[in-house]
Amino acid sequence: MALRQIRIMGDKVLEKKCREVTEMTPRMKELIRDMLDTMYDAEGVGLAAPQVGVLRRIVVIDVGEGPIVMVNPVILETEGTQTGSEGCLSLPGQAGNVTRPNYVKARAFDENMEEYELEGTELLARAICHECDHLEGIMYVSKVEGDLYEVEAEAEEEPYEEEETV
Ligand code: ZN
Repeated sequence: MALRQIRIMGDKVLEKKCREVTEMTPRMKELIRDMLDTMYDAEGVGLAAPQVGVLRRIVVIDVGEGPIVMVNPVILETEGTQTGSEGCLSLPGQAGNVTRPNYVKARAFDENMEEYELEGTELLARAICHECDHLEGIMYVSKVEGDLYEVEAEAEEEPYEEEETV
């Protein structure tokens, strides 16, 4: 298990557009494994490569249904809206209300560069949108309605209030 340092908002790497992955290399597979380790360690539900300082179009997500690896993800369809609390591992301790589609259909490649399609609603739809934004250098704070607010940083101290940090 290898953890990578999560970049915090203000770091210029989070403001840059990521490049496509053209070939799956051992180094890229190691990056994906490290991203999953880092996401689980930080108790997030998603992580994008720029958050660990790599400008490649790779995201990992787990909303409690197992790990999802998305290489070169493209959102194909969206439907409906949902407005709710959103946070980011690159801005610990804060959250804000963001409106996202309630349904997303996306196409991506897995860690073996096999193409697949994925449909998600609610939290999964939110996570896909949030992580794909990272690949464009967009932080969720630019989409927050109203002000950011403080949330409990140590989730384990607040067992009844589970914050979803993507
Ligand atoms: Zn994020």
